[in-house]
Amino acid sequence: MKRLLVVAAAALSLLAHADTYPTAKPISIVVPFTAGGPTDRVARDLAEALRKPLGGATVVVDNAAGAGGSIGANKVAKAAPDGYTLLLHHIAMATMPTLVRNIPFKVDSDFEYLGMINDVPMTLIGKPALPATNYKDLSTWIGANKGKINLGNAGVGSASHLCGLLFQNAIQVDMTTVPYKGTAPAMTDLIGGQIDLMCDQTTNTTSQIEGKKVHAYAVTTNKRLTTPALKDLPTLQESGLKGFEVTIWHGLYAPKGTPADILAKLNTALKAALKDPDFIKKQEGLGAVVVTDKRVEPAEHKKFVAAEIAKWSPVIKAAGVYAD
Ligand code: ASP
Repeated sequence: MKRLLVVAAAALSLLAHADTYPTAKPISIVVPFTAGGPTDRVARDLAEALRKPLGGATVVVDNAAGAGGSIGANKVAKAAPDGYTLLLHHIAMATMPTLVRNIPFKVDSDFEYLGMINDVPMTLIGKPALPATNYKDLSTWIGANKGKINLGNAGVGSASHLCGLLFQNAIQVDMTTVPYKGTAPAMTDLIGGQIDLMCDQTTNTTSQIEGKKVHAYAVTTNKRLTTPALKDLPTLQESGLKGFEVTIWHGLYAPKGTPADILAKLNTALKAALKDPDFIKKQEGLGAVVVTDKRVEPAEHKKFVAAEIAKWSPVIKAAGVYAD
């Protein structure tokens, strides 16, 4: 009886929230990586674009970084399903279940899928002190420095981890991976020369490449990019890595059990934000492609993630690149 009352009280409080949603308190978008990095960048731009379609609601970003993006994801999986705590995550939602053996949540059943945000290419970059300025010279340098090369990433399960592992596997050279809580601090260390190489989203690397703070060797897409600062970079495929292709995407999620009317409000707001010219301009300037297709629909995004799990699982297993 007592439990029934507690459940009824929780349901009533959710209903009361649904009534005032989304202005009863700030909406927090949890980013599972450090501030100033590529995922954070997308979240901050999105938070701004969501304010208007959410009726002037306050939307803030909460960086819950660590463990390759699982700490933040777990925080949202366990948060109150009231629409005030959301998760912005990336391809790790699809790769983490294969890449990392033990994660404390289930990507398919602990979240409500709100929709996809963008597709983002990655770039292979190096510290400014490296003698190699193009991919061919980088290959020679790697060949001459086997066993001494450091590769930065945002922790086991992150996109940079996935890309770095696939790269090592493709060239059959093992490197020492250095994990950070996000690629913002990894970028600082790359520029400072503490690590040699990194594979990271263009949302983090474009301005550094433009400012000539790092060497850029290649993009991970199957076609060259059109973004002015990146358009001269070869693909890894044309550089000789047959079939190499990684594109990161970002999606928005709520805890499982969030009421349907709140989810509908959030999806409508997300669609409006993705049409915001200012948001599109900022994202495109960083090499990202804002989603305009059906993947912005919750069910379609969920289908897409399931297809990504099916696509990446055999690749990760075949490469033998998973970790505990
Ligand atoms: N780029 C990071 C990753 O490798 C995440 C970040 O710092 O946003 O997943």
